Amino acid sequence: MNLILLGAPGAGKGTQAEKIVEKFGIPAISTGNILRAAVKDGTEMGLKAKSYMDAGGLVPDEVVIGIIKDRLAQEDCQKGFILDGFPRTIPQAEALEEAGVVIDKVVDIEVPDEKITARMSGRRVCAKCANSYHILYKQPKVEGVCDACGGELIQRKDDAPETVQKRLVEYHNMTEPLKDFYSKLGKLVIVEGQEEVADTTALVFKALED
Ligand code: ADP
Ligand code: ZN
Repeated sequence: MNLILLGAPGAGKGTQAEKIVEKFGIPAISTGNILRAAVKDGTEMGLKAKSYMDAGGLVPDEVVIGIIKDRLAQEDCQKGFILDGFPRTIPQAEALEEAGVVIDKVVDIEVPDEKITARMSGRRVCAKCANSYHILYKQPKVEGVCDACGGELIQRKDDAPETVQKRLVEYHNMTEPLKDFYSKLGKLVIVEGQEEVADTTALVFKALED
């Protein structure tokens, strides 16, 4: 099963991707996590990406397309995968088509902008393993500490309110047209993001069954 998760920043793609990983045993590929790891490691790609990310903009298509092609070529993706945060532009989606990557379904998680802004301020991520939490909706067992690895939970620089606004504008301008793109290919399924993570997961699983 080859899946794409679409949705605004903070719509809960990463969280739902984890649930799909658990249930279906296919890897989730987050371009955001790969880019953040590259920034942390100070690689050439990381240095290039950092300024775009900190400003709430999109990293150039050729950079992320390169990342995805390398990642999809790896062994663990051969039985299926979930793309979380890619594609984010029409050229990125076209690059997948041109590379002959067959996508079975595109699940779009819809959350209104006002809710996104409120949610993002409570988001925390693990500084070590990138697992994501929320101070209200997805609390760690111990405050400020990652359940998975014991790492420190921090706020992402690009989760600052002004930057979130910019990311939402980018989303509406650059990413939202993908709904039309995949709808025309008959692959789009829309899920309304719910207050409770588990309720959204139930809708996502249902969308994958049909
Ligand atoms: P979120 O879904 O919470 O916005 P991500 O972790 O997916 O965040 O992405 C963080 C940042 O990484 C984006 O704001 C953007 O700068 C960059 N990025 C991630 N994926 C892509 C992509 N497919 N194309 C361009 N930039 C990307
Ligand atoms: Zn961790």
